[in-house]
Amino acid sequence: MLKKLSLSLLLCIVGFTSLTAQQPSKPKASEIYHNLQKLNFIGSALYIAAHPDDENTRLISYLANDVKARTAYLSLTRGDGGQNLVGPEIRELLGVIRTQELLAARRTDGGQQLFTRANDFGYSKHPDETLEIWNKDEVLGDVVRAIRKFKPDVIINRFDHRSPGSTHGHHTSSAMLSVEAFDLLNDASKYPSSAKLYGTWQPKSLFFNTSWWFYGSREKFEAADKTNLVEVQTGNYYPALGLSNGEIASLSRSMHKSQGFGSTGSRGAETEYLEFLKGDLPKDKTNVFDGIDTSWNRLDGGAAIGAILNPLEADFNFQNPSAMLPQLTQAYELVKNLKDTHWRVIKLKQLETLILDCGGIFLEAVANTNAINPNGTYEVTLEAINRSDFPVVINSIKSVKGEVLLAIDKKLLPNEKKEFSLTVTSTSTKVSSPYWLNEKGTLGMYKAPEEMIGLPETPAPEQVVFSIQLQNTEISIAKDVVNKFNDPVKGEVYQPLEVLPVVTSSIPEKVLIFSSEESRQVPVTVTAGRDNITGSVTLQHPKGWQVTPAQAVFNIETKGQTQTLQFTVTPPKDQSEGYLRSLAQMGDQFFDKELVTIDYDHIPYQRVLLPSEVKIVRIGIEKKGQNIGYIEGAGDAIPQSLREIGYDVTTIAPSEIVAGSLKQYDAIVVGIRAYNTVPELAFKQTELNTYVENGGTLLLQYNTSHRLVTPDIGPYTITLSRDRVTDEFSKVTILAPKHPVLNSPNKITQADFDNWVQERGLYFPSAWDEKFTPILGMKDKDYDESKGSLLVAPYGKGYYIYTGLSFFRELPAGVPGAYRLFANLLSIGK
Ligand SMILES: [Zn+2]
Repeated sequence: MLKKLSLSLLLCIVGFTSLTAQQPSKPKASEIYHNLQKLNFIGSALYIAAHPDDENTRLISYLANDVKARTAYLSLTRGDGGQNLVGPEIRELLGVIRTQELLAARRTDGGQQLFTRANDFGYSKHPDETLEIWNKDEVLGDVVRAIRKFKPDVIINRFDHRSPGSTHGHHTSSAMLSVEAFDLLNDASKYPSSAKLYGTWQPKSLFFNTSWWFYGSREKFEAADKTNLVEVQTGNYYPALGLSNGEIASLSRSMHKSQGFGSTGSRGAETEYLEFLKGDLPKDKTNVFDGIDTSWNRLDGGAAIGAILNPLEADFNFQNPSAMLPQLTQAYELVKNLKDTHWRVIKLKQLETLILDCGGIFLEAVANTNAINPNGTYEVTLEAINRSDFPVVINSIKSVKGEVLLAIDKKLLPNEKKEFSLTVTSTSTKVSSPYWLNEKGTLGMYKAPEEMIGLPETPAPEQVVFSIQLQNTEISIAKDVVNKFNDPVKGEVYQPLEVLPVVTSSIPEKVLIFSSEESRQVPVTVTAGRDNITGSVTLQHPKGWQVTPAQAVFNIETKGQTQTLQFTVTPPKDQSEGYLRSLAQMGDQFFDKELVTIDYDHIPYQRVLLPSEVKIVRIGIEKKGQNIGYIEGAGDAIPQSLREIGYDVTTIAPSEIVAGSLKQYDAIVVGIRAYNTVPELAFKQTELNTYVENGGTLLLQYNTSHRLVTPDIGPYTITLSRDRVTDEFSKVTILAPKHPVLNSPNKITQADFDNWVQERGLYFPSAWDEKFTPILGMKDKDYDESKGSLLVAPYGKGYYIYTGLSFFRELPAGVPGAYRLFANLLSIGK
């Protein structure tokens, strides 16, 4: 358990200078001082919400840096359902990015990060829907487990548990589960396995992080009864860090780059309000820890430790922090004897880091590769240096199991670098991909081995332990084995060392649409995870489909090299869907994973193993017209999807929209949120309308009413709203059964609305000109029917279509009915 804890603890005492994701922490003297202050605070706070980016970084930074409490954010999900503004990754790969963005945010604001197994499956309007799709019992169990393990004195909910239906169902659910957990944490019969592992726990109080917004207006908030509100000042300036709390909060918030949450720092007084919900109401309404002894006296045997460490704050030696090593090592010996195992483990780890930082003691283990195979061998270079005058001896290098890999017993003389090398054979038998993606979960839940539940990421597979001696104090420092190299542009680049399979394979497309009986070539690329691999690949396929050859052979000499094998896939005559799965075989071993890498500067390099598969869909589909123009919006994959079914798609830059330039197109599709994100479109509507008037079809996908670049988005008025239908299984009513878009060239029936993914659609118009025909009606449970999901109007000789249906999700997911309906929209009037 110590090893597992140490990983997450390291994150909470990282310096503010090392904001890059990969670099080891190298704190300045003033930051070491700040960390000493945190060492002398014995208390914890936990913030709870649903998604990466829900968290109030002002409050987290305040708790971690002003109060100096051990602070964590429990995000129930990893944010897989969001959108990605920095790259193409969506769903579980976006969840991997957003997990790392949360870790980067916590490295910045000084908190720690926790999760449950709940999957961010997409928007839900009500907690009832959320808790039906999540396994409520498991998510509540994970919340209980997180609290019992972290043992916070105070818990703060981001959202109001009393307002179902007023915000995302995940949000309200996070607060409801937190409230429910608060009352059963101390009962060992509830969720007994986490009670057995971590003990029961009763936090002192539970709050809701309210604000005027929840009261309807600033005036109403001013007038409200504040007896139950704790008011904390979160605008303080921290000279040791050179930043005000608002500035740290913005740096932290800006780590949510995939969501476009860049934020500019603020200075000056700020207030946060915490509404008391349960437990003990603090008497001092400015201090959430009121009534809790947060000094060393809190712990049995702590007073003697405080007597050594508290004076160090007053007499801190900024010129030479190593002068404090005698006191720090003396305190270390006392902390080792604390009876409270929870705080003993935490404070030992904090002290170890502080001792290294004060001594300028740098320890590092660098492998000669960034990837090994299970039980693989690698060379590791170990660096140890003591940049102080304090006598330090390096005793040995051990494995995490305590086995001595290298006996050394040498003095680390001041500023004399020692380097050692070792050949290590890994004992890891498993690959080290994100643990929650190893096994297929459900729509609402990830699967995880019990010992991993709650961890932000898979612990580094390889560690070595430096055993060093400072006079009479021996400390063992576990270091992740990393890889690093010099990049001519970036300089020193760190990457994690991962355990990866000997062979991976991938099929470049994720969805293949067969719109006729014609065969298609499907390439499978095999990548060697070590030198000299030879074997064969088969493509497993659903019944009725044919694949030749049955087996193809690969033979690759060098690790990292690839070989592409070609297969011919022939679909059945009738509509059918399923998966092609690539299975590589070497001897009696099978490999069915694809390796995906994620490389952005703000997070560490990620490697993710996913099933090597492609969805294949045979659709009975007819279409008219051939040339489609596409105007990009916020980004969707509609052009690739249309090419899949045989259209010629040309991207039209807004600057190219001039008189007469559009007439070669049979239809023009406008990307999602184009009228929110492309300012030039404000000046192009006349040309687009003329194109329709002359016989063209213009199809607009959804926009939001907030920040439209022009109110004039078509020839007739249309009023956008926030209406959405989030249940992808909701019944669809045909409102205009005779309309050509439902009849030609494909006859659309109820079956075409089967197997949609994530939702039906969003931001449907709520009112429209009578020239429009509403085609479909749909609704979520307990809501009114919306008729604005698909609106078609003739204009001149052509057609203008506005749709909030989620084609941008359904087409890339290979949903046959969505393709057939979209083909009809593009075919109208032809
Ligand atoms: Zn959220």
